[in-house]
Amino acid sequence: MRFATISGRLSLITTSETVIDLTRASRGRFGPDIQDAYERWDELLEFCTTVTEAGIPLSDFPTTEFGNPAPRPRQVFAIGLNYADHAAESSFAVPEEPPVFTKFATSLADPYGTITLVPGKVDWEVELVVVIGRPAHHIAAPDAWRHVAGVAVGQDISERVRQQVGPAPQFSMGKSFPGFGPIGPMLVTPDEFDDPDDLELGCLINDEQMQQGRTADMVFPVPELIARLSAITPLLPGDVIFTGTPAGVGLGRTPQRFLSPGDELVSYVRGIGEMRHLMVAGH
Ligand code: ZN
Repeated sequence: MRFATISGRLSLITTSETVIDLTRASRGRFGPDIQDAYERWDELLEFCTTVTEAGIPLSDFPTTEFGNPAPRPRQVFAIGLNYADHAAESSFAVPEEPPVFTKFATSLADPYGTITLVPGKVDWEVELVVVIGRPAHHIAAPDAWRHVAGVAVGQDISERVRQQVGPAPQFSMGKSFPGFGPIGPMLVTPDEFDDPDDLELGCLINDEQMQQGRTADMVFPVPELIARLSAITPLLPGDVIFTGTPAGVGLGRTPQRFLSPGDELVSYVRGIGEMRHLMVAGH
């Protein structure tokens, strides 16, 4: 199944590309806030199998009506260097333990719109984003996908100067300016994919392909990440995991390239959709 926040309302997107407002369809049993729905995810999935109405064509909704499908997670995890080719372009060895940082919640943003640049070197990192649907604590990798509500496209926008300031890297700060964590355009349940561990993802700037990879090339696949994170930290419904980026970021290019005002960044995961953002100058 596919879910989205459209015009601020929890919505189901049907196989015939129509939109059903789940608050209205359920006569108020489910509220319009998708973040609340993760607390009752199994109940919501079951209800959705009973919905019979036709819905409104998806094409009737401008992309600007789409919101972040995980807007207020209690915890945001992000994984560094999770693709060997990206570790190499970043001049790091392939990690034996996944480097973990956070993108603070105020950095999360909608799947379409503008991103305000900040001074420094603002870079792109397309990523598969995982949203937790069932509590997960001490979960073994083979059971991990059962704890996932769905996946979405994410961008881990990163300011590379701030990321390196000080005696130890400041990943969480360099990657947490407002708007640096867009997610969307919809949340797709894992059962929609032939193999949820092998999805194509990539991004383009002004129609030029910058990144292209497959999640099958992750150093630590999604189930392994959930096993390792949940061995330490209970994962809560609605929590977000940015799972790392493949090669092709601006920092790793020769010559290096960073985002400029007027650049349009398109980020996609095949089978989920694409996000589209215009870079604008900060004040
Ligand atoms: Zn990243």
